[in-house]
Amino acid sequence: MAYQLDNRPLDLRERFYFPEVIRGIGTLAGHFLKNLFFSRDANPDILARPRGFARSDNVTLQYPEEKAPYPPGYRGLHRLVPRQDGSPRCVACYMCATACPAQCIYIEAGEVAGDPIEKYPVKFVIDELRCVVCGFCVEACPKDAIRMDTGEHAPPSLERSGQLQDIKALLRGPAVSYLSDPWLRRPSPSIPADQLAAMKATARPYHADADDEYASTPGFSVRALAAEARERAARAGAK
Ligand code: SF4
Ligand code: SF4
Repeated sequence: MAYQLDNRPLDLRERFYFPEVIRGIGTLAGHFLKNLFFSRDANPDILARPRGFARSDNVTLQYPEEKAPYPPGYRGLHRLVPRQDGSPRCVACYMCATACPAQCIYIEAGEVAGDPIEKYPVKFVIDELRCVVCGFCVEACPKDAIRMDTGEHAPPSLERSGQLQDIKALLRGPAVSYLSDPWLRRPSPSIPADQLAAMKATARPYHADADDEYASTPGFSVRALAAEARERAARAGAK
């Protein structure tokens, strides 16, 4: 149904203006007192926060000094995944930048010296302010070279440039290797033979001490999510 605009002329009370101001202040004060002294928000994260002397359930979190724990499904800021030798797994193929709907990934490719095939990112910048956290870049990457598994929120900054993450900021976290990685399957001018053999021996796509995928990707765990769903179902069943 079309929305009908109320275009009637103002009545005498509205034209006096003051009664409407007082009505507005009354509405505002009502909400303020209700939020201060009474429960409103049934969000369990908010209910679990410690309360002050007033009994309200709406407790403002003093971010960034205070932080609420994120749910297990939260993935967090990007990182560029390193190889075992610390260099980025990224081969500067531009697939993440092409898939990104916010166009917030900027890459400049360079050629690896002495290697006729391999490229690497000379520049790799993500504008975290433009990012819509869709995860398409992670899905598009053919090399598992970009992950959103840090479990971290973008840190606060006072200027826009503070949210531009370059390779220095992005290249971090546990190394990831697959035996199928091309740089492990053929001799590389940049990796000595003994180092290549050691890298092959320890190649794995998760932490050496990981006992499930949660230890490998702290922001995302199918097991943790399933356990949380079971707990929720058990709680609902007990009511
Ligand atoms: S999460 Fe989405 S918006 Fe953010 S960089 Fe990746 S593809 Fe772009
Ligand atoms: S992060 Fe992945 S998709 Fe993006 S350029 Fe590097 S290899 Fe390609």
